[in-house]
Amino acid sequence: MAATDPPAIPDILARLIAFDTVSAKSNLALVEAVEDLARAAGAEIDRITPEAGKAALWITLGPGDVPGYVLSGHSDVVPTEGQPWTSDPFRLTERDGRLYGRGTSDMKGFVAVCLALMPEMAAARLARPIHIALSYDEEVGCLGVRPLIARMRERGVRPLGCFVGEPTGMEVVVGHKGKAAARVTFRGKACHSALAPQGINAIEYAARFIDHVRLSAEGLARDGARDPLYDVPHTTGLCSVVRGGSALNIVPETCAVEFEYRAIAADDAGGLAASALAYAREVLGAEMAARDPACGLTVEPLVDYPGLDLDPASDLARLAKRLAGREGHAKVSFGTEAGLFEVLGGVPSVVIGPGSIGRAHRADEFIERAELEDCAAFVRRLIADCR
Ligand SMILES: [Zn+2]
Repeated sequence: MAATDPPAIPDILARLIAFDTVSAKSNLALVEAVEDLARAAGAEIDRITPEAGKAALWITLGPGDVPGYVLSGHSDVVPTEGQPWTSDPFRLTERDGRLYGRGTSDMKGFVAVCLALMPEMAAARLARPIHIALSYDEEVGCLGVRPLIARMRERGVRPLGCFVGEPTGMEVVVGHKGKAAARVTFRGKACHSALAPQGINAIEYAARFIDHVRLSAEGLARDGARDPLYDVPHTTGLCSVVRGGSALNIVPETCAVEFEYRAIAADDAGGLAASALAYAREVLGAEMAARDPACGLTVEPLVDYPGLDLDPASDLARLAKRLAGREGHAKVSFGTEAGLFEVLGGVPSVVIGPGSIGRAHRADEFIERAELEDCAAFVRRLIADCR
């Protein structure tokens, strides 16, 4: 390899994996490394820094003033604590043709492919631009893509489509569920449990809320709308975290409940969560306050992102299938930034990327060299299409 040859995909992946970009930490070192690569390829770089320690990138190859396509990835990864890794999760390690490391599938593998092909994009004299969008804090509620989409809109850029490279095994994914989640903290009144009627039991109010969510989820499962392309073909809802009480002989003063809804396109996750919260405030909270004005509840929103629902017959879905050399399409239950590109950005989106979601967020996450090459073939066909 000549000294001036651009780095190969696994080399770039190794560099990306070496940055510990768990969502709670800064991603700036990774962003600087990506900027170096983009600069070397002659790309236009726009860094978006809405908060300290975090940055998103909007990288453009080709003309900036005509509509093109977005390749979208996130820079953050989920933590590795408590997971039985065979090798250092932040050092790319090859065993039996598999490349192991945190983020290989979700989704630094896709990002590495996009970055490695920047020199080919630059050499192709694109008639339509290819943008690489790199976000942060995707794993904690799709946060960092929001200022990125806002910047895209400020720039007056209106891409024809966006490919979000979450791991789908390069399957063309036209839909994912929307999600809304919140934490409700019930604030009762403690006293000795021998005097239970003088207290206000926060856990008992939380239990009524939990049952309300359960009944609504059962209703959706029983006779709610259906979308057979999802493995769970209806909207779901549940409470997944409860924290309350301090001792067996104390009426519990506080109880916090975290709950979520994941909705197919026919339903609205935000609306379902709002309706559960209305029950909490108007029935439970009101009753608690009537018993003692110091009691009641507080609500903290945790996650809220829209679903994706792209027409499988749309131009973008057909283009994705042609570039991927596939005829079918699918929908996935996990959330991605695609719904936000579509809803906030007005950009039709599909999810397509190398690797498997089944390996994501687990010990010994990996990607295969052949999977990276499949993804590279997809991006190369996109480059040819944009010439
Ligand atoms: Zn991801």
